Amino acid sequence: LTFSEFNLHDDLLAGVDAMNYLKATPIQEMAIPKILEGRDLIASAQTGTGKTAAYLIPLLDRISHTNHDHTSTLILVPTRELAKQIDEQVEGFGYFVQANSIAIYGGGKGDDWDKQRKALETGADIIIATPGRLIAHMQLGYVKFDKIDYLVLDEADKMLDMGFSDDILNIVAKLPTKRQTLLFSATMPNKIREFSKKLLTDPEEIRL
Ligand code: AMP
Repeated sequence: LTFSEFNLHDDLLAGVDAMNYLKATPIQEMAIPKILEGRDLIASAQTGTGKTAAYLIPLLDRISHTNHDHTSTLILVPTRELAKQIDEQVEGFGYFVQANSIAIYGGGKGDDWDKQRKALETGADIIIATPGRLIAHMQLGYVKFDKIDYLVLDEADKMLDMGFSDDILNIVAKLPTKRQTLLFSATMPNKIREFSKKLLTDPEEIRL
């Protein structure tokens, strides 16, 4: 399928086009319609399959129909590298729909904390964060997640392996229960399935 067949906002299609994406990858073909329907989703997909665009494109389509007045989307990731990559993709796809994002991660230079705090206070459509650093900001009280509509867990297996399970559950406890949740994982061991039961409602399952 080409992206014009998904019934996406014209301004988003312009961004997809500008990024030189022509045909959808298999995970994108399967996930984009389900996410647009509003379903919770658990998907096993390795890096390199196009999993990032598989959730960013439909979520940016939803965001393109809002007036960008609140943070609607939280994406949790295991590493700063992945956070930065996703942030760059939002910038590319979201350029014409005026969607913006903030990347929040630990282990940076001394001024990162203040920059991240200011960005969180200003707000953005999408926050992309590593769980430990986000919890630290949340404990200081300026992070507002009462209007989150969409939660994504990317590379969930890696986040659990890194010991982020409790941090994730503590973050999710602060989110509205009425939300759409998408979980992506390279592997699908039992501990991911058990974990997903705490976060997802009647999920559609996609296996590559
Ligand atoms: P990911 O699996 O999300 O890490 O994506 C792997 C790489 O493939 C990234 O560099 C993406 O920009 C690229 N990519 C993903 N989907 C497409 C597509 N439909 N057309 C062209 N490039 C893509």
